[in-house]
Amino acid sequence: MRVLVIEDEPDLLEALGQALREAGYAVDEASEGRDGLFKAAGTDYDAIVLDLMLPGLSGWDLLRELRKSKSTPVLILTARDTLPDRVRGLDAGGDDYLTKPFELAELLARLRALIRRGAGQATATIEIGDVTVNTAERTVRKAGQVVALTPTEYALVELLALHRGKLVTRTMIYEHLFDEDNDTLSNLVDVHVANVRRKLGKELITTRRGEGYQVHG
Ligand code: CA
Repeated sequence: MRVLVIEDEPDLLEALGQALREAGYAVDEASEGRDGLFKAAGTDYDAIVLDLMLPGLSGWDLLRELRKSKSTPVLILTARDTLPDRVRGLDAGGDDYLTKPFELAELLARLRALIRRGAGQATATIEIGDVTVNTAERTVRKAGQVVALTPTEYALVELLALHRGKLVTRTMIYEHLFDEDNDTLSNLVDVHVANVRRKLGKELITTRRGEGYQVHG
């Protein structure tokens, strides 16, 4: 899953980027409102973490602009614990908010919930035949046994599972699994798919030639 963090405090931006990467996300960063809007409008992120008090363009204005074209789930970070700020953020199109200072564990849990809801998934576990994907634990079980996957393999399985029954194009895989600094060659997706099939069974992922991949729900 790929997230965008828009935050102008350098230390917090760096800490968030690092924590999210450690949690398995591909992460893009923006430290200024207009750059944030440019990135947010140009890529289908799985979620956006948005500070409200930003140079260039405020978080509220950014959200209002973004909502003209994209429904990406947005988690608002607000330094000011005042009710009007939070209400204004939610009214501008935010989906959830956290007040600084916040606990990282809570931010990660809220992001997971936003991403699930954005994909129309109500619970943390997704079952596909004898394969169970737990998006809170970031584990995959086959017939009850945890299968060891690399972070990229897990991200691929989670993406396909969240869109089960639907085509997931190669473009979607690139947009959701790799961040803007990652220029991995396209054939690597095939390698990851082959590894997942070897670990979880050939039948899990169907190739739709020239289009992409699909798991059946
Ligand atoms: Ca700020």
